[in-house]
Amino acid sequence: MAQRDRVSTDSISDKLAAFLDAVCRFLLVVGGLAALAGIAFVIYNYNAGSGSPALEAQAKQNITNFGHLALLGLTAVALAVTYLQWGEEVLGPLLIIAWAAFFFSPMYLPSIMGSPPMNAAGQNALDALQKASIPLGVIGLIDVILDVINRVKVSVREGSRADQLKYGKGVKEEKDIRNVILGKCWQLPYCRKFVRERCPIYHAHRTCWKERVGCMCDESVIRHAMEGRIIPSDSNAAAKLIPKDTKLTAEQKAERCRQCVIFNEHQKHKYKVAMPVAIGGMAGIYVLFHQPLAEGVQGAIADIDKLVGRATLRQDQQTSQSSGDLARTGLGGGDVAFNEVILVALLLVVLAYIIRLIEYMFFKAKV
Ligand code: SF4
Repeated sequence: MAQRDRVSTDSISDKLAAFLDAVCRFLLVVGGLAALAGIAFVIYNYNAGSGSPALEAQAKQNITNFGHLALLGLTAVALAVTYLQWGEEVLGPLLIIAWAAFFFSPMYLPSIMGSPPMNAAGQNALDALQKASIPLGVIGLIDVILDVINRVKVSVREGSRADQLKYGKGVKEEKDIRNVILGKCWQLPYCRKFVRERCPIYHAHRTCWKERVGCMCDESVIRHAMEGRIIPSDSNAAAKLIPKDTKLTAEQKAERCRQCVIFNEHQKHKYKVAMPVAIGGMAGIYVLFHQPLAEGVQGAIADIDKLVGRATLRQDQQTSQSSGDLARTGLGGGDVAFNEVILVALLLVVLAYIIRLIEYMFFKAKV
């Protein structure tokens, strides 16, 4: 009965997944077409109506309507791509890059569109493109954050991937031992009581990963425990009984540690300590260096604007016009709320990559 219930639940969730998949593919196509049409017509109306107030009013109305179409289309595309490509590392960063391309269009679009000088319709077109891109940035940032949270949860639970473990794979956690954070090997849950009591590493108060030999990789440790070998309680005397493997090189022994469930647990502890340090450190940097960081964001945007101006041989008139556009974005014009959003988004993205680096260090390079 329970199995039949489970089968029927599985089939309902399969059907729901197939339905959502079909909906998202539909949204991707329809949203993509709507976004393309909306963006194309917004740009088409960029220079429209110069010299004629009636035509200019019509162009502005068109831009508003097609801007809404682009906004809806890009929202649908961002949601659909998020569902269809969930778990892909580049998903969030790519959406953020797409957002940036639209959002910073005031830097390059006036140069591309050339003369006549931008009129009110052009201003509205730039506004419409920026507004339409917001869902890409917001959904991209949410994707990055959720991806990081997901990775952290898996890393805290599992550490290294199971296929990287060779020694002690499948060994159950012991219940009699407290899992001491950053503890020695005998303070971790894979130290088995019957081995520990006769283990020279335990009695010497050392750790197996420092000695490069232990109960998971050296059979003599287990054999001596099974034989009931008595280990002196004096730590110096016990240390003399720690097995020495002379057949393997130091690097081979280090590699053996990297494949051991006990060392993996030790790495998980380092990760658990490093994570709050990274998050707290980033929060501290934001609070302590807020002023220079905010100025740095503004300065960087202004530098990019100058570079783009030089690359596109922007005329003086267009340069000043673009500087006005830049100010309009708030980046050069002191729009505090906007600068804050950009700064927080940048710090979150940097934090996401720091977390990846920490993962790499502890679960791949295993330092
Ligand atoms: S080597 Fe193994 S048995 Fe010995 S103390 Fe470390 S974890 Fe426990």
